[in-house]
Amino acid sequence: MRISLPLLLVVNIAWATESSPRPGGVAIIEVGSASESAPEVEFNDARVLVMRNGDQWRAVVGIPLDTEVGPIAVTRSDGTTFNIDVKEHAYREQRLTIVNKNYVTPDQAELDRIGKERVIIDNALTNWRDWELSSVSLDAPVAGRRSSSFGLRRFFNDQPRSPHKGMDIAAPSGEPIVAPKDGVVTTTGDFFFNGNTVILDHGQGFVTMYCHLSEIVVEYGDTIKAGERIGAVGATGRVTGPHLHFGTYLNGTAVDPAIFLAD
Ligand code: ZN
Repeated sequence: MRISLPLLLVVNIAWATESSPRPGGVAIIEVGSASESAPEVEFNDARVLVMRNGDQWRAVVGIPLDTEVGPIAVTRSDGTTFNIDVKEHAYREQRLTIVNKNYVTPDQAELDRIGKERVIIDNALTNWRDWELSSVSLDAPVAGRRSSSFGLRRFFNDQPRSPHKGMDIAAPSGEPIVAPKDGVVTTTGDFFFNGNTVILDHGQGFVTMYCHLSEIVVEYGDTIKAGERIGAVGATGRVTGPHLHFGTYLNGTAVDPAIFLAD
């Protein structure tokens, strides 16, 4: 006797990144018909990620945190401009009183070191690598409670500091960190503020950064698959306890990692 099995349909529910046109957000806009080759698009003199969606090319534009509310424009290489209406978003403020002045004001040797490291990090965060992408969604690099502190405006002893440009994920020291998407390792190092750090380049200016690691298990130039281990959670650099600082960048600008992660 033949038993007929019900036909199981595997429905692939793809997590699709949504447009969030706010400071520190990502605007996703149509920039041309996919029947033509992919257009080159720029914003603030930086190349913008373009990916195919059905019969359209879509630009995925990182909007800097310090952008004023109102219209901004991206430009296609043929001169056509596309407007984006940047919406208001209120980021929280944090005011800390710090007694140890060294923590607030590094000495000259430390400033020199910070300056050199800034160049290395900025080069990796603004790198352009041609690579075809069909999505910008990311898997979580580590399990744990995610802070919603991206964009937090910080004041130390009433002095404004740069806003928090990442997501902190609480996890114990030694917890494995995995690549959230295929990529190439463009930086590893032990940095003054960020501690042990890995930067992954996912192509077309889509870059992710991992800070305060206890251990790094990849090297510069390594090609990494999604899910591959890159290091472990730690408390290196200027931190108060173990966590992963996870940064995401598009066209050289920090954007909110929550945009790319499924809930
Ligand atoms: Zn952080």
